This record gives sequence, C-alpha cells and structure tokens, in this order.
Amino acid sequence: MSSYPPADDRLRHLLAQEINLSVDTWKLAFWIADGITKSPEIRRELDRIAAAHAAGQPCGDRNCQHCFDAHLTEAIKETSE
Ligand SMILES: [Zn+2]
Repeated sequence: MSSYPPADDRLRHLLAQEINLSVDTWKLAFWIADGITKSPEIRRELDRIAAAHAAGQPCGDRNCQHCFDAHLTEAIKETSE
C-alpha cells in the first residue's frame, strides 16, 4: 500500500497535485489547496454531493463525473430495453 498521499492529509495533497499542474511552485499549489480544504463552504458542498450520491440521487452538479456516468449507464439501459 502506498503511503502517499498521507491518509490524514489526503484531500489537501490530492488538490495540491492537481493545482500544481497550473501553477509555478508546489508551495503555491499547497497553499491554495490548504485554503480549499479549510473552506467550510466547500466542505459543505462536498458533503452535500456525497450525501446525494449515497442516497442514489443526482447531486445536480454539472461537472460531476459520478452523475454523468450514472446518467450514461441509465441511458444505455433504456435504449437496450
Ligand atoms: Zn453527482
């Protein structure tokens, strides 16, 4: 099992990895990721999305790959019936 990203700081590291593709330094990427992980509003939205998915409901976020895939699977099922 990989020890990176660390289990207790996984979200921040994952965000920083993604941000790092668009900014000059890892330090800056990490700083931005830090702000995101500490934002109560972002946390609430992530919770809301996760809760919707757990309940089998679409979260309503147009960028959501989970719902896009689910919708696609549903469409394929409908056309094959
Ligand atoms: Zn979704």
